[in-house]
Amino acid sequence: YQQSMPKSETIRLREKHVGSACQLFFRSTPLKIVRGIAQFMYDETGERYLDCINNVAHVGHCHPHVVEAGRNQMSLISTNNRYLHDELVILAERLVKTLPEPLSVCFFVNSGSEANDLALRLARIHTKKKDVITLDHAYHGHLTSMIDISPYKFNLPGGPDKPEWVHVAPVPDTYRGKYTKPNDSKSEEELGQMYADEVGKICKEATSKNGGVCAFIAESLQSCGGQIIPPDGYLKRVYQYVKESYGVCIADEVQVGFGRVGTHMWAFETQDVVPDIVTVGKPMGNGHPVAAVITTPEIAKSFADTGVEYFNTYGGNPVSCAIANAVLDVIEEENLMERALRVGNHLLNRCEGLMHKHRLVGDVRGRGLFVGVELVTDRELRTPATAEAKHVVNRMREEKILISRDGPDSNVLKFKPPMVFSTQDADRLVDTLDRVLEELDGSRVPVTSLKLEVIYYEHIFLKYMALLTALSGNL
Ligand code: PMP
Repeated sequence: YQQSMPKSETIRLREKHVGSACQLFFRSTPLKIVRGIAQFMYDETGERYLDCINNVAHVGHCHPHVVEAGRNQMSLISTNNRYLHDELVILAERLVKTLPEPLSVCFFVNSGSEANDLALRLARIHTKKKDVITLDHAYHGHLTSMIDISPYKFNLPGGPDKPEWVHVAPVPDTYRGKYTKPNDSKSEEELGQMYADEVGKICKEATSKNGGVCAFIAESLQSCGGQIIPPDGYLKRVYQYVKESYGVCIADEVQVGFGRVGTHMWAFETQDVVPDIVTVGKPMGNGHPVAAVITTPEIAKSFADTGVEYFNTYGGNPVSCAIANAVLDVIEEENLMERALRVGNHLLNRCEGLMHKHRLVGDVRGRGLFVGVELVTDRELRTPATAEAKHVVNRMREEKILISRDGPDSNVLKFKPPMVFSTQDADRLVDTLDRVLEELDGSRVPVTSLKLEVIYYEHIFLKYMALLTALSGNL
């Protein structure tokens, strides 16, 4: 690879001309990435990194079929959606086919933020209400309207104030949340009810004050909040409360959609609910900016009835649509959902093995290729191991493996690799993590440490009970 300039000059120019609020990964020794192939990225020296973070490069960095689709369409025409084009309608039809009824009307936009902004606008117009319920630590985009409903941003020191029409419900965290205190063994069912009741309470108050709510917005598996898998039945109860308060439910599938969970195309399906509005982005274009809002004919009609045209210069341009269609081709042709499930389960099992070996590993959770490993300094108190998590991410980078961390205490190691990730990649990731954790704790959980063993087996037991409950529900 021929660089345009040495890395030091790239750093100098970036510092000089790019806003410092745009932060780099590994700030003191940033990576200069110049190429990507499948699940690997290469720096300017040709060093290869295993990418365990990039859920945007969904079907693999620079997948030839996707690249070709973009190149081909770019050489023909790129224009706006005021002209008829087959790629746009083909994409709309294909997306709708993956969604339950009555989700059948698409709007194409350029980013997840734009998609969520439009979703909120649709909700406001349709319900004529203002109150919006969001989850704590949620992130829904960088637009001003989205920062308003993103505690991930407005909770930061220096962040804007939360508007009074925004209501924050607790994250349905079954490990370290409002209702999950150490040594407290509530069932998934109970937790689902308790967390959902928090949303119910907000709905009730907003209804008595303002006649109802506008919307509930959430990722069906919260990624920015620390790879959270809500308890079974949670969203079903929440959606019911919101509907009873005349609100609409928005599922933000920007990170977790397009088959990442393995069992389903969309993460909300794992909770057996049907949202009123779904927003999709990131993986949709495999690195090209394209996103969409899919809603019901009824909500789309309320929007059209305003008489105000919706025009988005690049939303739904033929190049973006051709690329998104190519991404869908690859997901189907390469059976990537099946792969996400198989490799994801392997990764999850191997990570659970780490919990047995390392005191630092407090919880392991995930679905498909969406996995979180929560590090704690004290398993009983579940004290977040923030500094240790930072160290692990940096050490893994030295081992040429890129992972990230998230959660309110930045102590959750986050894996969401391109879906072409293999079991060998998962093994390399876990074997390396095992070594790095060993360096940190220097000691294995002693077999005689009965308390820790009990906590470990209790955790496994609860997971199997949850699985059995889910299976019996499916019979
Ligand atoms: N929703 C979620 C859940 C996200 O993770 C993000 C981006 N991290 C967005 C919305 C915003 O997407 P974009 O950056 O494409 O605007």
